[in-house]
Amino acid sequence: RISSFSTSAAIDEPIINPSIQIDHTQLLINGQFVDAASGKTFPTLDPRTGDVIARVAEGDAEDINRAVAAARKAFDEGPWPKMTAYERSRIMLRFADLLEKHTEEVATLETWDNGKPFEQSAKIEIPMVVRMFRYYAGWADKIHGLTVPADGQHHVQTLHEPYGVAGLIIPWNFPLLLYSWKVAPALACGNTVVLKTAEQTPLSALYVSKLFHEAGLPPGVLNVVSGFGPTAGAALSSHMDVNKLSFTGSTATGKVVLGLAANSNLKPVTLELGGKSPFIVCKDADVDKAVDLAHSALFFNQGQCCCAGSRTLVHESLYDEFVEKAKVRALKRVVGDPFKTGIEQGPQIDKEQFQKILKYIRSGIESGATLESGGEQLGSKGYYIQPTVFSNVQDDMLIAKEEIFGPVQSISKFKDLNEAIQRANASSYGLAAGVFTQNLETANTLTRALRVGTVWINCYDIFDAAVPFGGFKTSGQGREKGIYGLSSYLQIKAVVTPLKNPAWL
Ligand code: NAD
Repeated sequence: RISSFSTSAAIDEPIINPSIQIDHTQLLINGQFVDAASGKTFPTLDPRTGDVIARVAEGDAEDINRAVAAARKAFDEGPWPKMTAYERSRIMLRFADLLEKHTEEVATLETWDNGKPFEQSAKIEIPMVVRMFRYYAGWADKIHGLTVPADGQHHVQTLHEPYGVAGLIIPWNFPLLLYSWKVAPALACGNTVVLKTAEQTPLSALYVSKLFHEAGLPPGVLNVVSGFGPTAGAALSSHMDVNKLSFTGSTATGKVVLGLAANSNLKPVTLELGGKSPFIVCKDADVDKAVDLAHSALFFNQGQCCCAGSRTLVHESLYDEFVEKAKVRALKRVVGDPFKTGIEQGPQIDKEQFQKILKYIRSGIESGATLESGGEQLGSKGYYIQPTVFSNVQDDMLIAKEEIFGPVQSISKFKDLNEAIQRANASSYGLAAGVFTQNLETANTLTRALRVGTVWINCYDIFDAAVPFGGFKTSGQGREKGIYGLSSYLQIKAVVTPLKNPAWL
């Protein structure tokens, strides 16, 4: 039996009830909150208890049609793509100011719906969302084409134009942050948008999109449809009048969405998908620092990160000390009601994920990994899981191969750098990697050898708005954020004019 968690008592204390009133539960179409055409609603649940927070309008194909029609009209006839980029930028900046002013309400909704610690929502995520809108507002009036030195007979220029209607589909793990990764660049480039939120976390996007309209966004430019994947999500992906699709979610769903896009109007698709990211602790690492960083790389956001450092590979010379200290750190992790101060870990998003994670833990035990800490539900209500650490994890175990998306750290040892590189790359995923070393040459070697979209050296989860993010292999295609993120929302048009046209001479 694993020694008890210092924090388990906090779980059974009375929960904190947020006092915020939930005003926006309908679909946002053409600047108006409206019921679903079917009149249907679905419950969104509090992960701390499983209780219903609110019932939300359930959009399906008919509502997607209405939202796409509004976005189409706003693009073809409305002022958004035609107004000066400076004006678009001003509206985005006004929205960022409003969002910043309402940080507490927005963070409350986010934590209530998702279960992430309130301090994390209010102090880390909402400020990152504000920054993302300010960052892309800054780009709006700096997007321009090139003059191309062609054959000497022609003047050639490129125009960078918005696609038109962008369909955006997001998951539940960072509802508002991933909203900002897509909505901000799409709008900065002059597109109009239909956003499909995750069915687990519909509330914050509705609230902030209302603020966006208060900031002066014209109707129809940003439409938000809550609903389920196989109905609303599939309808958006296959819609003939959607010109661009951007999806974040699991690799399995990404493949479905890509197929729907291909088999409808061949709309281009950006995909941000799953991962099984290695965190490599080299032989020269400072063990205490490496333990702390590897811990946060995995446990941040309840382990529900696409880029979680979910394969901790440790050099054999440090391995025993590392495992012992990783276990001690996990046992100290403060788990409890995410509205309390000082909480590091809240509940998992829902019952389905909770059960899936516990199943992976059972599979780890059955396949022979050593359970160092945790492994069970924490408390008696809601979806809390003990911070769990496995050592002696072998690469062929399910817990080493598949995305667990929960607070489960898997540690294994390696002998030399070549082995670390080979094993780190032996995954169908290629989203991110962490490298912990004090040797510049080792860092350079690993950086170039790893087949991943982001390498964090002696740091992890650094997500500035200006830094591109995306995956190699089955972790996705395309990049979000930074200057690279703009290209997902821009068409390139070449314009060719003769310098001397004989017909006119
Ligand atoms: P998911 O794929 O089940 O759902 C994501 C979104 O897709 C939701 O809005 C869902 O309603 C929608 N969807 C589901 N079926 C659909 C369909 N048939 N057609 C269209 N849309 C559909 O993923 P999830 O479980 O909600 O999210 C977790 C996954 O997201 C993890 O695999 C994680 O790694 C990944 N993720 C990736 C990134 C990244 O940037 N790479 C970021 C966050 C999460």
